Amino acid sequence: MSNKEDLEKLYRQVADCQNCSLYKTATNSVPGAGNPEAEIVFIGEAPGYFEDQKGLPFVGNSGHLLDKLLTEIGLERKNVYIANILKHRPPQNRDPLPEEIKVCAPFLKEQLLIIKPKIVITLGRFAMNYFIPSAYISQSHGKPQQITWEGLSLLVYPVYHPSAGLRNGQMMQSLREDFLLIPSIIDDLKQEIKENNKTVPAKPEQKQMF
Ligand code: URA
Repeated sequence: MSNKEDLEKLYRQVADCQNCSLYKTATNSVPGAGNPEAEIVFIGEAPGYFEDQKGLPFVGNSGHLLDKLLTEIGLERKNVYIANILKHRPPQNRDPLPEEIKVCAPFLKEQLLIIKPKIVITLGRFAMNYFIPSAYISQSHGKPQQITWEGLSLLVYPVYHPSAGLRNGQMMQSLREDFLLIPSIIDDLKQEIKENNKTVPAKPEQKQMF
């Protein structure tokens, strides 16, 4: 099966999920969207109101900011994949509970094992702490970290959540500065892969980055 088909199968499981109570108050599940062959995956926290209405990640105010930041660095949604830690909206957009993360995270794990990205850009502390549990966002944002995670070699790049940027001018500035470093992080990784002679040929649907 292709990545696209594997992901679609997973989306059906997400839609049927009753492993926590969030499905009861949600309108739609929001499994994720974007290029199934993406080299770069963005991971947020949980769907908000508009995401819940549409069943798509980052389509509200945070999403508009994310689109703008992507454009500023020459990326588009069709080049990347976007998902959240939680696949159903928490009521009133409250923080995810540890138990909700525990039962929902296997879906994200499955998505990443299907897509096998090279870079994971975490938006906000919940997504960052999924990969780097002991990190503090105020210290770790803007600092790429190479990790081995579930057998995948991932470059994790934590940045502030776009909603934090919308609330606070200083965080907006950090977020923008961290985004502006993404092209050079991609270039450095490309170079490293080339030097290690591990270049993977681009798959047909993806923009060639590596
Ligand atoms: N905030 C998130 O973390 N994810 C979304 O999809 C929208 C807002």
